[in-house]
Amino acid sequence: MRVTEVQEHYDIVLIGGGLVGASFACGLAHALAGQGVRILVTEAIESLQASPSFDARSTALSYGSRQIYDELGLWNELSTYATAIERIHVSDRGHFGAVRIDRDEMNVEALGYVVENRHLGLVLNGALEQAQEIDYLCPARISNLTPTAEGYTVQVLGQNDSVSTIHADLVVLADGGKSALSQSLGITSAVTRYEQSAIIANVAFADSHCGVAYERFTDSGPVAVLPLSTLAGDNRGALIWTVAAQEAAEIVALPEEEFLSRLQERFGHRLGIFTKCGARGTYPLSLSVAREQIRPGLVLLGNVAHSLHPVAGQGLNLALRDAQALSASLANAQQQRQPLGSMAVLQEYVRRQKSDQEATIDFSHYMTRLFSTNHPALVWARKFGLFSIDLIPVFKRGFARQAMGLAQRAIQRA
Ligand SMILES: Cc1cc2nc3c(=O)[nH]c(=O)nc-3n(C[C@H](O)[C@H](O)[C@H](O)COP(=O)(O)OP(=O)(O)OC[C@H]3O[C@@H](n4cnc5c(N)ncnc54)[C@H](O)[C@@H]3O)c2cc1C
Repeated sequence: MRVTEVQEHYDIVLIGGGLVGASFACGLAHALAGQGVRILVTEAIESLQASPSFDARSTALSYGSRQIYDELGLWNELSTYATAIERIHVSDRGHFGAVRIDRDEMNVEALGYVVENRHLGLVLNGALEQAQEIDYLCPARISNLTPTAEGYTVQVLGQNDSVSTIHADLVVLADGGKSALSQSLGITSAVTRYEQSAIIANVAFADSHCGVAYERFTDSGPVAVLPLSTLAGDNRGALIWTVAAQEAAEIVALPEEEFLSRLQERFGHRLGIFTKCGARGTYPLSLSVAREQIRPGLVLLGNVAHSLHPVAGQGLNLALRDAQALSASLANAQQQRQPLGSMAVLQEYVRRQKSDQEATIDFSHYMTRLFSTNHPALVWARKFGLFSIDLIPVFKRGFARQAMGLAQRAIQRA
């Protein structure tokens, strides 16, 4: 529920109402419904479109993420904006070998779904504003966090330069990959810079995508085109084009015709001729993993905990599984009357998610390394890899389940 004033004490203060924060808040409201836990969510940016989470990008939600949103009662509305991925086609520019994964082979309705981030924002924010269990304060920037014996003191800068101080038993930090607050607490991250940038845009093309998500690897990095709904008769897709960091500014600024022709040369003609391109954006790419995800009274979630290369479309999908596990640990603790910010509770969450985080981070990191090089040994390895994944059913199933976010959901449930 939207509020303009805050109380002096909350059991949980969540900082950041981006894709991860808003999804976690909805899950928390669900998991702790009727238990009298007081929750505050603060988001610095009022306009959905201006928030980094809800920009012009699209997100490939795995089938596992669809199940999570389903459990939260949000999928019905989200599905009206979602385009189903019926097949995934992974290929290597200039080399033989491709992986083709079909929804029928995997026995699912869809391998995943593509949703434009602004639509995710509309649905998640609508749910946040309606959740009775949550006080939602926006715009409100948290300017300072100070640890105390019982949790944290949180300083809130609200509208008209108002300043308030809140006490929280547990702070959930979901303020994104550039988190000034985690830095102010001395939390450092292990960072691998890929020296690459992602160029994103919505593009139109001559042929129907027929529900296929294309991922094409090139020597300068992968190009993905994810299926989107048609608009005004245009066949549309969401482009994520990885280029060398030093080339990004030049490519993104090319006149539309030249941009599309450069893209055509990289991607090929599987979708016919590229005809149009919407607003373009660039994102420098790195893998960043926080060296601490928990402290007494504090837990990091989403990009502040781990930011991944978007090549395998795993960042939000992993964060949603983290969010679900954290909600379950907190609901469990609340039932057993354990303090929500205690290390025992937070360590239990970390234990639940450790292997999922490690497997997902490795999957996306090694895919990036393997598929962004011209080194002959690695070219051979990926050629062999794509062939063997496609030919050997057990490899293919494993690859597909990882991409669909189902391998980890099965472990979580075990
Ligand atoms: C090009 C690209 C494509 C991607 N595609 C996919 C994909 O297909 N599938 C997938 O799973 N993932 C994908 N990802 C990853 C996904 O977008 C991220 O994992 C996700 O956006 C992270 O969300 P977040 O909420 O952690 O951070 P953010 O989106 O950065 O949100 C943080 C929020 O916190 C707020 N905030 C910051 N500081 C404060 C403060 N002091 N007080 C209050 N509020 C504050 C900000 O305003 C913001 O709204 C992609 C990423 C990129 C770059």
